[in-house]
Amino acid sequence: MKKHIAVLAGDGIGPEITDGAIAVLKKIGEKYGHEFEFEHLLMGVCAIEETGEPLPQYTIDRCLASDSVLLGAVGGAVGDPRINNLPGHLRPEAGLLKIRAALGLYSNLRPAKLFPALAGACPLRADIAAKGIDLVVVRELTGGIYFGERGRGQSEGGEYAYDTEKYNVEEITRIAKIAFELAQKRKKKVISIDKANVLESSRLWREIVHTVAKDYPDVEVTDMLVDNAAMQLVKNPAQFDVVVTSNIFGDILSDEAAMITGSIGMLASSSLGATKRGLYEPIHGSAPDIAGKDLANPIATILSAAMMLRDSFDLGKEAEAVEQAVNKVLDEGYRTADIFSEGKTLVKGSEMTKLIVDRI
Ligand code: NAD
Repeated sequence: MKKHIAVLAGDGIGPEITDGAIAVLKKIGEKYGHEFEFEHLLMGVCAIEETGEPLPQYTIDRCLASDSVLLGAVGGAVGDPRINNLPGHLRPEAGLLKIRAALGLYSNLRPAKLFPALAGACPLRADIAAKGIDLVVVRELTGGIYFGERGRGQSEGGEYAYDTEKYNVEEITRIAKIAFELAQKRKKKVISIDKANVLESSRLWREIVHTVAKDYPDVEVTDMLVDNAAMQLVKNPAQFDVVVTSNIFGDILSDEAAMITGSIGMLASSSLGATKRGLYEPIHGSAPDIAGKDLANPIATILSAAMMLRDSFDLGKEAEAVEQAVNKVLDEGYRTADIFSEGKTLVKGSEMTKLIVDRI
């Protein structure tokens, strides 16, 4: 199989971690007889420096011509003079929203799994961690308050600002279908998270999720209010299998889900739309505090590449080979600084990549 992969390494640790994922994909190509071509493109602060905008049209066009997109991370440190005074639409994060919209990626899947070898890194009580964490947050990605009408004006109380949460039936239906189909391949449990006691948009969300549920009688569906979900995630995360929710709630809850698994450097994500071309990225940011020091954990990006193999290229066996190599390295006790604990072997980010590549 021959595939063309667009690589948006981005800023900070982005180039280090995408290099790790590329090395793994090359090894998979060699071992299983596939050809992966990589095309590096600009996005983020590096694109602003070179072209004046966070996501140049050329990058969008080349991503649209690719079979899939691998993204590192974008963004600078707080106070970075290159981006400090830029208006919202020219900030690096604006590029993230734009690429998702340009590629029509309306669903974001974020698995949060507690690796048995890393149980000690879980910040929850040991008896809670012992029950295991293995859930996927299915977040709606191109609707809701991040894309709704917004603005500022003047009122008697001074200047005001507003953002609008808005969802239509089609947007809710397609994301709900993704959640139910995923649940059919897992433990057949969907928990839909909303704020239907207050928000009208959540009441429509709940109605449509239950309409879609009728087509999946083998999947159990439950509703949960977002405030309760935030509590339940730390009280009893084992109850969750597939979580489906809106853009903003998914943004917040998936970071919470990430934290309870021990390290943000371990968690992958995939974003998909109506085609097989997806965008695969770690859930963490550009970590300017550790950039260029070879301290970044490449595993989240490597596991994102495994998701690409499975979800975009239908290469399940190859994806499993990557996941098994990661498990093996962790079982053998190798750790980057972010997941290090006493008695384990501390390695640099590039060494971690090499250890994984050698075990494929
Ligand atoms: P961050 O995720 O970059 O870093 C949070 C903390 O986690 C830092 O201490 C960092 O060192 C650590 N960390 C993150 N990834 C790691 C890894 N792979 N290995 C080891 N440690 C890791 O979040 P932040 O500091 O809030 O944001 C930094 C920049 O990233 C900001 O400009 C922000 O806007 C941007 N950001 C981008 C994305 C994205 O590109 N998708 C996502 C989140 C944040």
